[in-house]
Amino acid sequence: MRERFAACYELPAFSLHRAAGVLTEQLARLDQWHVTVADAGDFCHQVEELLRCAAPILVDLAARAGAEPGLPTGGPAEIQARVLRGWPWRWPDMAAQRVLVVGAGVTGLLTAVRCAAAGHRVVVLDRGPVPNPAATSFDQHRALRALHVDDPATTAAAATARRRWSVLEGELGERFRRPVGVVTAVPADAVARSLALAADAGVGLSVPAPGAFAPVAFPDHGVALFEPDGGVLLAERVLRAAVRWLSHHPLVELRPWQPVVDVDTAAPAVTTARGERLRGDVLLVAAGPWSRALVDVPTTLYRQTVVYLRPPEDLADWWETAPCVGGAGPDGRSWLVPPGAGTDLKTSTAAACRAVGSLDDPDDPDHWADVVLRAGALADPDRYRVVAARTCHYAVDAATGAGALTRVGPAAWARAASGGDGFRTAPLVADHIADALAAVPA
Ligand SMILES: Cc1cc2nc3c(=O)[nH]c(=O)nc-3n(C[C@H](O)[C@H](O)[C@H](O)COP(=O)(O)OP(=O)(O)OC[C@H]3O[C@@H](n4cnc5c(N)ncnc54)[C@H](O)[C@@H]3O)c2cc1C
Repeated sequence: MRERFAACYELPAFSLHRAAGVLTEQLARLDQWHVTVADAGDFCHQVEELLRCAAPILVDLAARAGAEPGLPTGGPAEIQARVLRGWPWRWPDMAAQRVLVVGAGVTGLLTAVRCAAAGHRVVVLDRGPVPNPAATSFDQHRALRALHVDDPATTAAAATARRRWSVLEGELGERFRRPVGVVTAVPADAVARSLALAADAGVGLSVPAPGAFAPVAFPDHGVALFEPDGGVLLAERVLRAAVRWLSHHPLVELRPWQPVVDVDTAAPAVTTARGERLRGDVLLVAAGPWSRALVDVPTTLYRQTVVYLRPPEDLADWWETAPCVGGAGPDGRSWLVPPGAGTDLKTSTAAACRAVGSLDDPDDPDHWADVVLRAGALADPDRYRVVAARTCHYAVDAATGAGALTRVGPAAWARAASGGDGFRTAPLVADHIADALAAVPA
């Protein structure tokens, strides 16, 4: 708790509204604690700790609220208006825009956070709950890596995105990164140029000792490279932290269960299934693989099967601190996301990634789970217990095969091609939309 308050309060990263958010969260947690004789001592200690940490913040808040002479009087609306004037949110000024976001996956939520933090009004619509367990983003974890072999531009962008994630942790007041590093196996002849590329991009990269990752199987002639600053993003935790932040923000309206059925990219405006038309100054369509039903962006749709595993007991400790792995298996096409912080070990292979015509194309999930399990990413696969398998989709730009943010109107963007690295790069989309807002006339 001390660390979190310090992170909120220490200059230069001080943010009064973030601090107030943490304070509210901690109060709510203590409020819900059913105190028993056995833990009453702990409870009192935590209350004391909270008051001690929060005292300077409460003084600041009181000072701001006190700018209004005397106590608020009048009816509830007036009292609320006067109290909120002292609330530590940034209020819209003359330049504030109205941002419409379709889709509350990682792209839509982080964009909403970024725009609201910049003082803009934001409406986020999702066809389901917010966050939606059916979203591509809704999973236990995602890999956070920067190295893209032979691709300096993507490596540099990924390194920027990675730095944005550590800032986001502070802004949202939640830890959702597991900095366990990333191992990528590359062909022996790519080692020297990968090290040079990483050095140019400011990405730490080293060659670990042989056998350092013995539970993982690598291609015969592959060399494992270790990226210490990479790791795991706890995806569901990211989404929940963003939703918590947004749901307390007075400039944000979260609208679950509101499918958008039509998008007017020229206006820009959207129409919901209830027939309501909403107009914005800026629009972002971030409906993941469902975006193709709303905007005309040529994409290729991929379906992938992932399998969740439990390691054998004697390897549990090793896996708790193990890195993400790419380029695994005899063909170098498998990847692993390690367990930890309540998540399972997850694996898949590019061999189980297939192009499909639509989200509803028929499938044989058991066959594809078998393809993943036989891919050979683990040195001793039979010792692992299969917990679950899941089928999911993502779309890429039809021309480039990569993720893309496409301008679809004068003030409208779509992330129909969110791509296979769309989670870790979502903060870059948020930055782009926030920057674009500055260029749109109020
Ligand atoms: C198996 C797999 C592994 C991956 N691994 C990684 C990884 O390790 N690292 C990484 O960076 N990326 C990874 N990705 C990619 C990444 O998960 C996605 O690119 C990213 O999550 C897409 O997020 P999004 O917010 O754009 O879309 P989504 O998360 O799909 O969110 C779209 C939202 O829009 C809503 N919606 C849909 N239609 C409508 C409508 N008509 N009206 C209103 N709302 C609507 C949906 O309900 C949903 O909530 C992986 C993807 C897959 C499939």
